[in-house]
Amino acid sequence: MLIIFDLDDTLIDTSGSITPIKLEHALQKMVEAGFQTVSFGESLELLRRLDQLAPSGSVALAEFIEMHDADPRLYEIGYKELYDTLSFDMPVFSVDRAAETLSYLRISHQLALVTIGKPSQQYEKMKKAGIDSTIFSKIVVTEEKNKKIHYQAIAEELGALPAEVLVCGDKIAIDLSPAKELGFTTVHMSFGRGKNSLGLKEDVDHTITSLSQIKELI
Ligand SMILES: [Mg+2]
Repeated sequence: MLIIFDLDDTLIDTSGSITPIKLEHALQKMVEAGFQTVSFGESLELLRRLDQLAPSGSVALAEFIEMHDADPRLYEIGYKELYDTLSFDMPVFSVDRAAETLSYLRISHQLALVTIGKPSQQYEKMKKAGIDSTIFSKIVVTEEKNKKIHYQAIAEELGALPAEVLVCGDKIAIDLSPAKELGFTTVHMSFGRGKNSLGLKEDVDHTITSLSQIKELI
């Protein structure tokens, strides 16, 4: 089989290890730019709470700005901090048993990765999380939220028929629905943000709560 993975909140614990710190940095930048807060700690707690329920950090940030009726310019400043930078001192953790599971899967399957973000950051996160990028036959890092063309190209390039492709990701609408449109089998990683993932439930063939459970599906 060809197994195509998502990276954030599928192989690495983005919402658990990176996002809380990035939200703090974003709030810091917004305060420096004029965001008024009585208590930095309380504002940060609110922002993190909104984030846990939101489909993305940017949605949480937008809600936070709206709730405070703050200058929209502050959203841009927070957004930039949230997505455009990755501090070198920031720890990044993989999800439970990620390296072990990938090593096991690669014995009998081809592995690929399609992730949305900046190439330098995505590779840096993988490295920090201890995920060996050479384990994948193909890696696509794209800044556009359209995974379908990449799924199709990878399957063609690696010679896999739709029935032989499995896609595993935490966001139903972004990771799984495009795979379903191509006739691939989908595995929803219900983890981190994936737990509140919006999307069509019928696009989900299987649900796992821990990455290693994928071994039992194939
Ligand atoms: Mg993800």
